[in-house]
Amino acid sequence: MAKIIKLDDKGVEFLEKIMELSGEIITLCDQCGTCSGGCPFITEMDVNPSQIMRQVMLGQKNIMDSKTMWICASCFTCTVRCPRDLDVSKVSEALRQVKLREAIDFIDIEEISDEEAKKLPSIAIVGAFRKFTG
Ligand code: SF4
Ligand code: SF4
Repeated sequence: MAKIIKLDDKGVEFLEKIMELSGEIITLCDQCGTCSGGCPFITEMDVNPSQIMRQVMLGQKNIMDSKTMWICASCFTCTVRCPRDLDVSKVSEALRQVKLREAIDFIDIEEISDEEAKKLPSIAIVGAFRKFTG
């Protein structure tokens, strides 16, 4: 007999927040794993894309500690392949927004040396600040 998992209030609140921010009905995910199977950045991730969907569905806020949402490059490979028409990149972006709104940045400008800054293309620096800082 299938086990029914009941979310507590905080879990429901987290799930609803991510669904609202992403615009995705995350509960439609059937955990087929297609997104994880085709993600070109999977080797850099600590939690795979389908697990991200599952943990958000279960209201597990500790998923916010994963680096996957920062690694996701919004390449949309998973989006075009998802049989449920879900966009994992939007879910990643919603998770990033929650973190950045808490004033928790993924990169620290102070840690970039002048030498490194000179080597980096300016578009990479601007892109990184837009994505990784609030
Ligand atoms: S491909 Fe779509 S339905 Fe399948 S696990 Fe990923 S998000 Fe869920
Ligand atoms: S959009 Fe993100 S999760 Fe989806 S395949 Fe690309 S990098 Fe992976």
